Amino acid sequence: MNAPQNSALATDIQQSRSLNPQLDDVVFSGIVAIRDRLLQHPNPLRLESGEPSFDTPEHIKEAAMRALRDNQTHYAPSTGVMPLKEAILRKLKNKNKVSCITSPNQVLVTNGGMHALYVAMTTLLEPGDEVILPLPNWTATNWIVTLAGGTPVRVKLHAENGFRWNLDEVRDALTPKTKAILINSPHNPTGGVFQREDLLGLLELAEEHGLYLIADEAYEDIVYEGEHIALAALASEFSPAVQERVISAFTFSKSYAMTGWRLGYLVSSHPKFCDNAKKMILYTINGVSTPTQYAGAAALDGPQDCVAEMLAEYRKRRDLLFSGVQACAYLHCEQPPMGAIYLYASITDAWQGSDWDLVDHLIDSHGLGCVPGNQFGDPTRALRFCFACSTEMIERATTALRS
Ligand code: PLP
Repeated sequence: MNAPQNSALATDIQQSRSLNPQLDDVVFSGIVAIRDRLLQHPNPLRLESGEPSFDTPEHIKEAAMRALRDNQTHYAPSTGVMPLKEAILRKLKNKNKVSCITSPNQVLVTNGGMHALYVAMTTLLEPGDEVILPLPNWTATNWIVTLAGGTPVRVKLHAENGFRWNLDEVRDALTPKTKAILINSPHNPTGGVFQREDLLGLLELAEEHGLYLIADEAYEDIVYEGEHIALAALASEFSPAVQERVISAFTFSKSYAMTGWRLGYLVSSHPKFCDNAKKMILYTINGVSTPTQYAGAAALDGPQDCVAEMLAEYRKRRDLLFSGVQACAYLHCEQPPMGAIYLYASITDAWQGSDWDLVDHLIDSHGLGCVPGNQFGDPTRALRFCFACSTEMIERATTALRS
């Protein structure tokens, strides 16, 4: 035995056992860097983060505490406890007007909306499949598609048209590799809301080309003009084959101020999709924490005034912030956002530097946080402001933007 040779061999083998390179290009989060700088400010204005200022309503917290007292502390079925699945089915039928989801087997409880999207993409995608995403888009979806082996293909949303797609441009982006289109309405980061005709047009495309449609319904309860239309509700106007290819991801995070609970769900009428997604859930989380699921059931079955109250407050904050942006020479925003908790403004020629320079300037001079459009894949100069932080912060941010 030659010890030095053996140890050289061991080093070679260790070096060849590299980490999964797929993650090397994934960017952690540019927003974290902004937050770190912002928090050095004595009195930061937290418009960079999508965190609601509200606390979870008492009756929801009470339901979790009751579940703990009742010893609902054991393993639960990995795709969700029956009281929650049944509450979700009632909500889908009565509120979302979805008629194609009727069985608990079609409901999969997930660890938040992000995990719902991860399960959907990993269940659907084969290496090289393309997924059409909005441009700009919530960065996470981009990376989730990449991690699931897919290729994101972004199609521009048009600010002058309320941040909606031109469906001809979506059609032009289709290739034989296109597997799915992701729809997020109301939209992060623009606040755009797709209209009925947009959703019907996408369902027609799906029918024509055999595509899957993934509806990210994270902001279903935050619509300021008109009403939210769930894509799965409109799918009932199409054949069962099209209905089966609509997969919807929901979350409790924004509707009920439950970001920290990590509770969401995925629904689909595609039997094989549900069977396979169930395996993904089993082998990633084996189910969401049991008391959390009872809190979710109470959120859906309990009084909904809290949702309406938060929406009313968001509307006030939106209008205030919009007035501040309109008064700021560096920013331009066509119209107040129609939904969600974000205002997306383009940067005018009055600002000479880059979008990152303007972010720095707003932090340095006012402690005001926001996110540059390039974080959402947008090559044009733009900023996203989130107005879910306190009204007092929005008032101060508005004064800063006016100065
Ligand atoms: N989808 C969009 C567009 C979002 O902005 C978010 C959160 O910010 C989510 C999904 C998922 O949220 P969560 O994982 O907290 O449920």
